[in-house]
Amino acid sequence: MKFGGSVLNSPLKIKKLVEIVKSFEDKENAHEIICVISALYGVTDKILTLSDSLARSDKKAIKAFIDEMTLIHIDLVQGSINNPAIQQEAKNAVLEIMREFQAILEGLVLIAEITPRSLDHVLSFGERLMAPIVSYSFKDQNIDSSYFTGKEIGIVTDSNFGEASPLMDTTKFRVNAKLIPILQKNIIPVVTGYIAADQHDHVTTLGRSGSDYTATIIASCVNADIVYLWSDVDGLMTADPSIVKGAQVLTEISYSEAAEMVLFGAKYIHPRALEPVMDSNIPIRIRNAFNLNHQGTTITPVLKISNNIVKSIIAIRNTALIDVSGGGMVGAPGTAASIFETLAKNKVNIMMISQGPSESSISMTLKQDDLGKAITSLELNLLGRIIKHLNVLEHVSIVTVVGSGMRGIKGIAGRIFTSIAKNDVNVIMIAQGSSELNLAFVVNDVDCEKAVKTLHQEFGLDKSN
Ligand code: ASP
Ligand code: MG
Repeated sequence: MKFGGSVLNSPLKIKKLVEIVKSFEDKENAHEIICVISALYGVTDKILTLSDSLARSDKKAIKAFIDEMTLIHIDLVQGSINNPAIQQEAKNAVLEIMREFQAILEGLVLIAEITPRSLDHVLSFGERLMAPIVSYSFKDQNIDSSYFTGKEIGIVTDSNFGEASPLMDTTKFRVNAKLIPILQKNIIPVVTGYIAADQHDHVTTLGRSGSDYTATIIASCVNADIVYLWSDVDGLMTADPSIVKGAQVLTEISYSEAAEMVLFGAKYIHPRALEPVMDSNIPIRIRNAFNLNHQGTTITPVLKISNNIVKSIIAIRNTALIDVSGGGMVGAPGTAASIFETLAKNKVNIMMISQGPSESSISMTLKQDDLGKAITSLELNLLGRIIKHLNVLEHVSIVTVVGSGMRGIKGIAGRIFTSIAKNDVNVIMIAQGSSELNLAFVVNDVDCEKAVKTLHQEFGLDKSN
């Protein structure tokens, strides 16, 4: 069970978490439960902001930061744990971690440099501070528990700091050796999500929202029955409820649909978190810790027959479109390679690509924030050579229609674009992968909400699914 930052940010919520775990334990055939926890809500962002101050040698910022972190975590300990002796132990644990955190920050501010490796090290403290709080809260309710960092539990990754990937074979071996004896003793392990270590024992992080990934990595190692991702949302939805009033929670979707949705910005899951469980066919359930009556969304290996061709309409806002063209691009192998290589070198991520068979132009969409970098790098490296013209369109949105039922069904694209056209929305660019799991198109951002609403209605997604 993974508990996200939004389930940890008040004593009441931590008590709720303990209750949930207890309710699963109390059932007849008692479950063995492994808890994975995130940092307290907002803390990872705060550490990231602080890292800028480190690079600027801003010593005052550190003092203020340490005071704030100590305060919020100690408050949490005091509110969540009743037994005075256990509360004291938890406080000591938190203060000890805070001392280490402070020493590291003071060292880094002196050299005024933060590398990807040291950044991962400081980011790890968000989760490290939470683990004892949750673990001692279990003890406070007479549930035996111990806490571990991802490294201590045996998750080994490559050294791609900030976005590390697990070395699954080593990890599986170590995690099993560590976890199984703990579970056999009926102890609930509380493991820090998001953080692990490389082969040289340097702390790594798995990328933002990495606690989901930690949970699925561990689940795959111990061959768990199921992964629960607890947060404050009911599940994955047919559309963004702030755009479509009648948006529904999806009861069940397949791994591949979930993967599409996650990649296209349904931000509830880490994009790579599905990989470990997909290989071992372990289902994931997304559930709302504060709405236990709702069964949430189950992501399953094999989908029961579903009537819905389309599952979800997703909008990605704040994107821009670049169109590069030039006669020299026609029939010249390596054109696309040099364009994308140039962009990749400058750390620009491309979300959607389209090239017609005439090969005289390539359109691509990217985050609005990356636009400046993208234009500069293309202009410096390729303009006037391979590329003759570079056109930019800002304030566009990608609308994606996701659903495995679309595969092999005729007329879906027709329905999509006819209904969009009827509502007077102009389509600027289109892409569909041959897996037919999604169809994506670009519209002006002012038309985005209209497009999403139209399609949600066209495919009857406001009815139950
Ligand atoms: N604390 C990390 C983050 O905010 C990991 C997580 O929450 O899953 O990205
Ligand atoms: Mg999170």
